Amino acid sequence: MHLQRNIAVTLLIALIFSIIVFRVVQIEQRRDAELTRFNALQELSTVRARIEGLLDANLLSMRSLQVEFSLNPEVNTQRFNALTSQLLSGELHTRHVAIAPNLVISNVFPQEGNVGALGLDYRTIPEQYASVQAAMRARDIVINGPITLVQGGEALIARVPVYHHETDEFWGIISQVIEHESLLEDAGLHQSERFDIAIRGVNGTGEQGAHISGAEAIWQQSPVVSHVALPSGVWTLGAFPKSGSWQAPISTYTLHWLSGGLITILFSLLVFFLLNSFCRLQSAFETISHQARYDSLTSLPNRHYFMQVLNDTIREKARTKSALAVLFIDLDHFKEINDSLGHEAGDELLVKVSERLKTSLRGSDLVARFGGDEFVVMLKDLEDPLDAELLANKILKVLSPVIEVASHDVIIQGSIGIAIFPNDGDSASDLIKHADLAMYAAKSSGRGTSYFFNDSLRSQAESHLQLHREILKGLQENQFRVFYQPIIEYSDHAPNGQVVKVEALIRWHHPEYGIVSPAHFIPIAEKTGTIRELGEFVLKQVCEDYHKLSNQGMCLPVSINRSSREFNDPQAAKNWLETIDAMQVPRHDITFEITESILMPDKERQHQMLEELAQSGVTLSIDDFGTGYSSVTYLRNFPVKQLKIDRAFLIGVPESPQQVALVEAIMKMAKALELEVVAEGIEQQNQADRLKLMGCHFMQGFLYARPVALEDLVSMYHPETGFAAERVGVGQ
Ligand code: C2E
Ligand code: MG
Ligand code: MG
Repeated sequence: MHLQRNIAVTLLIALIFSIIVFRVVQIEQRRDAELTRFNALQELSTVRARIEGLLDANLLSMRSLQVEFSLNPEVNTQRFNALTSQLLSGELHTRHVAIAPNLVISNVFPQEGNVGALGLDYRTIPEQYASVQAAMRARDIVINGPITLVQGGEALIARVPVYHHETDEFWGIISQVIEHESLLEDAGLHQSERFDIAIRGVNGTGEQGAHISGAEAIWQQSPVVSHVALPSGVWTLGAFPKSGSWQAPISTYTLHWLSGGLITILFSLLVFFLLNSFCRLQSAFETISHQARYDSLTSLPNRHYFMQVLNDTIREKARTKSALAVLFIDLDHFKEINDSLGHEAGDELLVKVSERLKTSLRGSDLVARFGGDEFVVMLKDLEDPLDAELLANKILKVLSPVIEVASHDVIIQGSIGIAIFPNDGDSASDLIKHADLAMYAAKSSGRGTSYFFNDSLRSQAESHLQLHREILKGLQENQFRVFYQPIIEYSDHAPNGQVVKVEALIRWHHPEYGIVSPAHFIPIAEKTGTIRELGEFVLKQVCEDYHKLSNQGMCLPVSINRSSREFNDPQAAKNWLETIDAMQVPRHDITFEITESILMPDKERQHQMLEELAQSGVTLSIDDFGTGYSSVTYLRNFPVKQLKIDRAFLIGVPESPQQVALVEAIMKMAKALELEVVAEGIEQQNQADRLKLMGCHFMQGFLYARPVALEDLVSMYHPETGFAAERVGVGQ
């Protein structure tokens, strides 16, 4: 896993480096192209300067003749020849010079090969005349061409008009034929080693003009250009690399590639090496820190780490003023197993025990091995100190099944000592010490038990345990009964009240203590878990009694109380529905009374069960409404049909206006949520009257009837009037 990640990171870095190298080469390539352009421009300006110099040198003879004839217009062949031969000496590119006083050629130098031109009147040749006129307009030299000569070949023709020095009268034209090819050759147009150079701009038309000489193809590329200044107009010089591109091919940057590649490889290897070393170091640290905190045999936290966490948790609990419990567990007879089956078997047993311990704890609890066969548990979220005893019992239970160790079946028991923060100590060491002491007390009182360090908790726990055993015994010995308390409805067709339902209430006839109130044993049964057996008994009894009543023509729906704890069994709703169906009781004749605590958030599983029950046809009613959570939002979100206002709310009704206002508020809310309301614990007639005025139509309380045995309920029934309220109790 680490290796794959490291390779991926290394490849990523190598990729980033390669991109950087590529970018560097690109920038270098662009820089080189700029440099090449600069060099080309330099070469062009050299060629331009040479062309301009050579042209000036050639046109110098013409300018001199212009001055001569303007000062002395006399045409004399001898004088012309003498002047011209003098001026044309040297390395010039002029083929010949002609003068045309009054636009008719009178003299040409040299005459050889040019005699045919003598006597030519420019006015008779339109193209030539046009250029003559252009020169006259410019009163300066105008270079035409290159044009094809009559004598053959191509050349430039320069013309300049001459005016009389004093009178400014037009005298004539001087023409000079210049061999441009040799001039451009001498200017170095074809001599560049790196660039193709070309010139364009026939008749001085510059960039737009036709090609004159050089590598014509460059005009199709992107040449750099420079302009050659003519006496009138310009030529354009262009240059383009012979290689065909301003940019050198990317492959020519071998050195860049090589060095870049080398750096990339070296850096990537370095990163890979560092990452690997870091991972090894990290896992070594993790191993060391794990070994420092966890027991190597069971992988449970060790004493050191447990004490650390316990101290932290104690600080947190001291701040929030809440409690925690420490359970010290010692395995009974572990030494004998170790001695008889060997240490390896002992180790195997410890591992299996630690696994069982882990399964019996919640996520927030912590179990550690303190050494040998000692385990310690921290119970972090402790609502009631007696919950610690429940956990201890659970642990003892999960430890009890046979464990197979080294092919032997072993039964292991534990003794558990319990210390509670803050009552039994405010430091980790005190709590551990006291839990340890309690564990010894548990061991000496008979193994396989738990013991509180605190005396009063211990005696409470003992009485709980006692009661737990007695409830189970009582169920076996039929000491429990179900009593029924009528619920009366006032309606239009029964204005004096009619029993429409009964609430099933459990009763315990203890052989020794007599009748024990459910208010006493139900909360303990909830803690110890016997509520499940009690709940099952009540449901079955109710179903049986339902048939007993209906057989006598009394069809009475029944409300049955269900504790929140009973919903902890994920199969609870399914099992109840199965019992109701198996005993053939219509589901709609059963109401389950639940308390508001079950509607609290974070009880997803329980909420699902409520949905399941409601959908199956069972009615849900909120019992003791007003004493608990009372959130309208949650009420609205649950499939509840009925509210039972707790008796405590009715004390003070109708005398106390505040109390009346409170009950009225509940009535309004219930109406808005379309809930039926039952007033519980009605003891006085004026209470009932006031509630009826407020719109409450269902009443339950001693005013009508106390909870009674089934036989007594039957005696309240009259075949004609049914369960009229008067027969039940007070009436009205
Ligand atoms: P609860 O469900 O609110 O039941 C009403 C309690 O109020 C009953 O007490 C009933 O006798 C009493 N009561 C009714 N009318 C009056 C009255 O006018 N004045 C006075 N002072 N009391 C009245 P009980 O039978 O002692 O039951 C106490 C609680 O025990 C019940 O309160 C219910 O929460 C629980 N309980 C009873 N039977 C069962 C059961 O089968 N399962 C479960 N889970 N809980 C039960
Ligand atoms: Mg009830
Ligand atoms: Mg109640």
